[in-house]
Amino acid sequence: MIRQFELIQRLKSYCPDMDEELINKAYVFAMKAHGSQVRASGDPYFSHPLEVAGILVEMHLDPASIVTGLLHDTVEDTLATLEDIQKLFGDEIARLVDGVTKLSRLELQSEETKQAENFRKLVLAMSTDIRVLIVKLADRLHNMRTLYHVDDGAKRRRIARETMEIYVPLAERIGMQGVKDELEDLAFATLNPEARESILSRLRYLHETSDNQVETILFELRKVLDEHHITASISGREKTPYSIWRKMHMKNVAFEQLSDIMAFRIVCEAIPECYQILGILHNAYSVIPGKFKDYMSTPKANGYSSLHTSLIGPLNQRIEAQIRTKEMHAVAELGVAAHWQYKQGASLDGKQYAWLRGLLDILEHTSNPQEFLEHTKLEMFQDQVFCFTPKGDVIALPKGATTIDFAYALHSQIGDHTIAARVNGRQMPLRTILHNGDQVDIVTSKTQNPSPTWERFVVTGKARACIRRFTRQQQKNQFLELGKSLLHKAFSKEHIDYTEDNLKIACEIFHYTQADDLISDVGHGHRTAKEIAQSINNKLKNTTTEASLDEKIEQKFDESNATIKKQKVDTKMSIKGLIPGMALHYAGCCHPIPGDKITGLVVTGKGVTIHTVDCALMADFEEPERLLDLSWNDHLDDTSRFVARILITFVNRPGSLAHMTTMISKQGGNIANLKVTHRTPEFWDVFVDVEIKDQHHLDAIIAGLRTVPVISHVERGK
Ligand code: MN
Repeated sequence: MIRQFELIQRLKSYCPDMDEELINKAYVFAMKAHGSQVRASGDPYFSHPLEVAGILVEMHLDPASIVTGLLHDTVEDTLATLEDIQKLFGDEIARLVDGVTKLSRLELQSEETKQAENFRKLVLAMSTDIRVLIVKLADRLHNMRTLYHVDDGAKRRRIARETMEIYVPLAERIGMQGVKDELEDLAFATLNPEARESILSRLRYLHETSDNQVETILFELRKVLDEHHITASISGREKTPYSIWRKMHMKNVAFEQLSDIMAFRIVCEAIPECYQILGILHNAYSVIPGKFKDYMSTPKANGYSSLHTSLIGPLNQRIEAQIRTKEMHAVAELGVAAHWQYKQGASLDGKQYAWLRGLLDILEHTSNPQEFLEHTKLEMFQDQVFCFTPKGDVIALPKGATTIDFAYALHSQIGDHTIAARVNGRQMPLRTILHNGDQVDIVTSKTQNPSPTWERFVVTGKARACIRRFTRQQQKNQFLELGKSLLHKAFSKEHIDYTEDNLKIACEIFHYTQADDLISDVGHGHRTAKEIAQSINNKLKNTTTEASLDEKIEQKFDESNATIKKQKVDTKMSIKGLIPGMALHYAGCCHPIPGDKITGLVVTGKGVTIHTVDCALMADFEEPERLLDLSWNDHLDDTSRFVARILITFVNRPGSLAHMTTMISKQGGNIANLKVTHRTPEFWDVFVDVEIKDQHHLDAIIAGLRTVPVISHVERGK
């Protein structure tokens, strides 16, 4: 066990002006807090945080991280509280200890590591300060070093598997190769002791048959470099049993075929030297083709850079050589931690840690590495939150997601029927925004349906699409209902029966393939029930003449009408008094335009149709509770367009129609629909639906039409 004075001495060696008192205070606090607790090994519990602090000192971490290492288990495992720590050690350390504590609690939740990838992201997202993650890795490293003391085999394997799936990749991600290798091999020893033992025995056999190959090869390599007057440090080692095993697995080769059981590392000062050394080695020994890798010109994602090559070495043994600079070496071993070990010559450019670029910026702009750490936030995955189902599955959601998003992420059926949500055991409003690590329990009911108001707070596309789909269906049904009742009324006024046959006739006249579409258009107010009933009546009475020019014109306008309706700009902003989120439609019967007194007809809570107050339809209307008091906005968007109906009587002469349409377009009106309603040999009655800006615009068009000689009468139609 490392002793207090050793810890301080080692820390002082790289951080001479650190606050010795602070370390002593943390030491005493942790020792007292853990009291007589013991570990599985029988050692006093306090030995664990002390060893963790020792590991952190080896990594040359800052004093705040060392203190965090000493205190990391006090909140979770002793009577000490976060408030105590905050009072005694200040905000920064309290925040770090809190971070590590939260990660430890997370571990307890995760019996299942099936979703390792999401879980790793969760750990990263929760490590808002990268030191939290590094302390956690040191904690895990010491626990793994002492794992063999744990008697329960299942527990041992669970911890080892978690280490392999969660912490090894995290260590690799932040470039801490040394920690990664050790964690991996310790986990391997628990998870597959037989495989590890067989590899170890092969290695032992190799050692017995050829004494100290590593030393001999080292000696030979040094001689070669000396001949070329290169000063570099060379070290040799056997690869860890796990990495040998993985290579055998991945490449499906036998132990003997592995080229790189022995790896030699040559560390020099500068990059040009690295390539020089590579040339010397390639000259002196045979190169194994296809093994050369230049991670110097293209570093790995975690910042690792080095030259790798495989050779038939001095003893005719296959060896791997890794060539790199001192600085690259520090990054390879310590990853992120190397940033503050190398604080002076910190010339790590953005290329090396794409995802750490933000950190590097801060590093460049602060002289003090401690300040750098304080401002360091791990920004990866900060745009996501990770929550748990009651069973412990991790659900990844975008930041700002609510319980409804969570429910839809599980299944659209669950989302559609959500009635309540419990977050961390407490019932919360459905609009509650979720945070990392929240456990969410969704309560459903078969009778519950999505509410259109949900659309205002959900953030995921899936939730939004499901809610819309439901609302649209609901709206469609309600417009159908309304359309049916309007048609019923109009049919009975015209003394015709509301039958499928009669609807079929209407469909033929108005070019619908399905009666439902026609009924729903009436519900929307795109067509009036009256015009439909009258047309059926005319057809039944067989008073219609053959398809005339007028009908052809009508048809043409009907077609263009359909496209105009689709293009119609959103004019919701034009009206005051609307309930937000409600669908809005302008009635086709009275064509309300800005300036008119208007009222809204609520279609069973899901949509509003705007009518003029004096619309004929409204006169018959007997359900005042379905009417909304509305008015136009004072400031209308310039691009808003409304459809107004103009009734025109003109003298039946060639070119009359053309005179009329020309005048309308001269006044800037766009004809949306035109229909001949009555015809005698002398006069035609037509209505024209014109797209206009507002009432002034309409007045100008009407005034213009009145100047046309062939037009005998003009009025606005309602
Ligand atoms: Mn611990």
